[in-house]
Amino acid sequence: MTHAHPVSRASLSEQLPVLRAALLQQRRFRLQQLAELEAAIARAGEPADPADAARREVDSKLAAAARQALADIEAALMLISTGRYGRCRRCDAEISVRLLRTIPTTQWCLRCRRHLPSADGSRVIRGQRPGQPSPAPRRDLPTKRETLACR
Ligand SMILES: [Zn+2]
Repeated sequence: MTHAHPVSRASLSEQLPVLRAALLQQRRFRLQQLAELEAAIARAGEPADPADAARREVDSKLAAAARQALADIEAALMLISTGRYGRCRRCDAEISVRLLRTIPTTQWCLRCRRHLPSADGSRVIRGQRPGQPSPAPRRDLPTKRETLACR
């Protein structure tokens, strides 16, 4: 146990019961959602027509997203129980209580979230994109393709 930042730690420990309750509620919601989706997928069996198949595909994607969200929630609850909640996985800084209240499952501080690929199961705050090097124009090659997003 470190006592490097007693003030903000105190603030987090004050908020911890609220955050934990929010996570438990999210977990209940996700478990129920997942159970319903899996029941719907099981009921559908082998889809008979394209509409059923499309619906099943959507359900599968939603179930996958729910499973991911559930994993994030479990991870956050585990961090709370081991006393390591609220620290950034990337830079080890304290995650602001404000961000934790907005996204209780986050394991990254606001600054590091901007560098995430985007799928950590929660909303991603969009920062500016890292500067893309513009590809040098090759005049010797005839190309019809757009070179904007080729890297
Ligand atoms: Zn960080």
